[in-house]
Formats: sequence, C-alpha cells, structure tokens
Amino acid sequence: MAKVIDGAALASSLRQEYAQRVSALTRRAGIRPGLAVILVGEDAASAVYVRNKVRACEAVGIRSVRLTRETSISTGELVALIESLNSDPEIHGILVQLPLPKHVDMTAVLEAISPEKDVDGFHLYNVGGLVVGKTVFSPCTPYGVCKLLESEHIPVEGQNVVVVGASNIVGKPMALMLMAKDATVAICHAKTRDLAQFTILADILVVAAGVPGLIVPQMVKTGAVVIDVGINRLSDGRIVGDVDFEGVSKKASYITPVPGGVGPMTVTMLLENTIASAERHTRQPAPVSEPA
Ligand code: NAD
Repeated sequence: MAKVIDGAALASSLRQEYAQRVSALTRRAGIRPGLAVILVGEDAASAVYVRNKVRACEAVGIRSVRLTRETSISTGELVALIESLNSDPEIHGILVQLPLPKHVDMTAVLEAISPEKDVDGFHLYNVGGLVVGKTVFSPCTPYGVCKLLESEHIPVEGQNVVVVGASNIVGKPMALMLMAKDATVAICHAKTRDLAQFTILADILVVAAGVPGLIVPQMVKTGAVVIDVGINRLSDGRIVGDVDFEGVSKKASYITPVPGGVGPMTVTMLLENTIASAERHTRQPAPVSEPA
C-alpha cells in the first residue's frame, strides 16, 4: 500500500516557519512582506481563490492588498495599475488572478509585472529562467510538488519522470524543474497516442490533466511515486484528482490525495515566494549616487 503524502500537514508546518521568517524580517529590517492581489470581474471561483490567498497571507503576517476591478477594465488601465505596484516599495509580490476577461490582453498584463515581483512565476523572464536555471520565482504548483518530493526524501536524479499535462502553469514548468534536478522527463498531453505506454515507465508520475479517473492501476509501474495535481468537481459535488486513488494506492509506493495533497502546497509556495522577495529586497545594496 502506498504511503499517502500529507500535503496539508507539510503546508501547515511550512507556514509556521514562514510566520517566524516574517517576524524575523520585521525585527531585523523593519520590513513586512507585502503582496498585491488583483482580481478582475465577478468570477465566483476566482473570488474564493483570492480570499484563500489573502487569508493565508494574514496567517503568516504578510500584508496583503486586494485590488478588485470591474470586468470592463482595459488592458492599459490594468498595466498602469501594475506599474504603480512595481514602484511601490511596500509591495514585494504582485499576483493577477487568472482567468482575465476575454478582451484583456493577458500576455501584456503578465509581462507588465516586474520579474522581481512576479511571485506566480508567469513572466516570460521567469519562464525562460526555468529553461536556463536562473529563475527568480518558480511557479507555485510545480514548486509545491518539488517540496513534497523533497519532504519525503524521494530521489529525482536519474529517475524516469512522466508528466501528464503540458500547460504553461503546471505541466511544462514541472517538467523543466524536474529536468533541472537531472531526471529523465517525458511530457504527455491530450494528443499523446497510447498514454499508458509512457506512464508505465514512470518512477515518478505527475498528473495534471484535469480529467477525473484518467490514471488507472494498469497504467502505473509497481512502486512508482504518483503525484496527482488534478482538481475536478464531480456532479455529486465531490472533489477528486486525475488518479484512481483507491486502485493506484495498491500499486504505488507514494501517492498524494485530492484534496489535501498538492493543493495546500500551491498557496504555501506563493507565501514562500513573497517572503523570499521581501528578504531579497533587504539584501539589495542602496543605489550609489553619482559624484557631483
Ligand atoms: P489545462 O487545461 O491548462 O491543461 C491540461 C493539460 O492536460 C493539457 O496539456 C492537455 O493537453 C492535457 N490533457 C487533457 N486531457 C488529457 C488526456 N486525456 N490525456 C493526457 N493529457 C491530457 O490545465 P492546468 O491549468 O494545467 O490544470 C490541470 C489540472 O490541475 C486541473 O485539474 C486543475 O484544476 C489542476 N490544478 C491544480 C492546482 C493545485 O494547486 N493543485 C493548480 C493548478 C491546476
């Protein structure tokens, strides 16, 4: 039977550490980490995510500023708001809750965020940084998966990793982060022919497709580590991942549950990135003025 990796427990112990890091930073440098969260429109799910992020910030002592804007906001107005936050010394992280309304140019908005405050890790600089190993911020969900693997001392180097899902926010950065740790990585997606022929080879299988029941025991190697990123709400209201948890638990060595696995780690990594940004800010030397 697989060991269930308790993401909620790890998230909670990390958050206790973060509370101490925040108070140490305030004591040492008089700085309180600040996160600006921009929410556009009335999307109910987005409002819940933003509320959770704001609460999580408060619980560890991060100052969070929630900025809500009407659906009708233009790309230019949103970019101007971000630019004002870029130059605000009390803001160390800027997050734009996605999705944005269709008329807004999402790329232009994400590119407007200073890479030094891009705590979601979606700016092209940070995405490119993942490729060459120079990222300022790692995207929160794959970063959380790496922390889960580390917490269980699961080796990554030289392991066969299969990532199911190739999105820009989960699958692709996940593959790059594990490749940076010297895993041999394959990425599968909706157009992959015969998914099982790939997944069966995985020592570590990370699934982020958004398809309930996609991964069944026959697709999993005995002893594999199975990380389920998927979050799906069924018609009966239950929340499940992409993996047949009951069946796969009997074959895997480790497995993450849904809920309570990767989910709690995502917001936790947002806190980590915001605190790291504020800490980095205190280490920056003061600008040297030109001699007259
Ligand atoms: P997405 O829709 O942007 O991308 C899904 C990816 O899965 C695509 O690359 C697609 O080609 C692939 N895919 C779809 N059906 C497939 C199939 N049958 N076989 C193989 N690949 C298939 O989704 P996303 O934003 O990457 O999110 C993926 C899942 O992870 C969703 O369930 C989402 O709710 C969840 N998620 C969870 C967290 C978390 O904190 N735990 C964070 C982000 C996303």
